[in-house]
Parts: sequence; structure tokens; C-alpha cells
Amino acid sequence: MKESERIINEVAQGFIQLDEGVSWFSALEPAQQKSVLREVVSYSMQAHATVEDGREGVVRSGVKPTANPAVMIVREPLPDRMAKIINLPHSENVKAFRVLVAAFAVADTRRRETQCKGRCGHEWHNLIL
Ligand SMILES: [Zn+2]
Repeated sequence: MKESERIINEVAQGFIQLDEGVSWFSALEPAQQKSVLREVVSYSMQAHATVEDGREGVVRSGVKPTANPAVMIVREPLPDRMAKIINLPHSENVKAFRVLVAAFAVADTRRRETQCKGRCGHEWHNLIL
């Protein structure tokens, strides 16, 4: 499993705090950061994230609701909005990471508690720490 995949899922499952994920993310080069943002969006789609998850994510993210990524993640159509969040200037990368990972955590937690309840074959839901 890639480091980025592990860290994103550790945050989603509460093994590490979002702030710890942000510390890791902040140390990456801007181009790597964009690649991680694309990854979080892809996981969010797999987890069937909704704009409701986006709203809850914004609350948990520590990002102001008026910040660009926070405004965009609560609007339909979500896949399109998430793609636009990835394309924001690099200066928005950290806010984008906070909002996207927090929203993914909401969607993924629902999935773990329903479809994946008990046992599942997803490697990222069976992290051995
Ligand atoms: Zn699973």
C-alpha cells in the first residue's frame, strides 16, 4: 500500500488525527500534493460521497466555510466540483486536503458501518498497524 493511501485511510478511520495527515501533506512538493488530492477524490467517489458528507466534512475540517474548497464541496454535481477543487491554485492545496479528507472520512465511515460491516475484502479497511 502506498504511503498516501495508508495515511488518508488512517485519518478516515481515526487512527491518526487530520492535523497529523496535514503535517505529512504539507511536506510534499506541490505536484505531489495535487496527486494526493486526486487520490482522495477517487477514494471519495468509491465511497459514494455526497454533498451532505461535504457539509459534515467542512465542519470537521477546520477550514472556514467561505474558503474556496469548502464552498465547492457542498455543491452538485459533486464529482465535477471535486475535480475543480483539485485544479485550484497550489496555495489552496492544504485547505483542499483538509476538506476532501474530512468529507471522505464521513462517506467512508458510513460505508464501513454498512456495506463493510463485520468483514470486507478492502485492503484499506484492514490496516494492520
Ligand atoms: Zn471495506
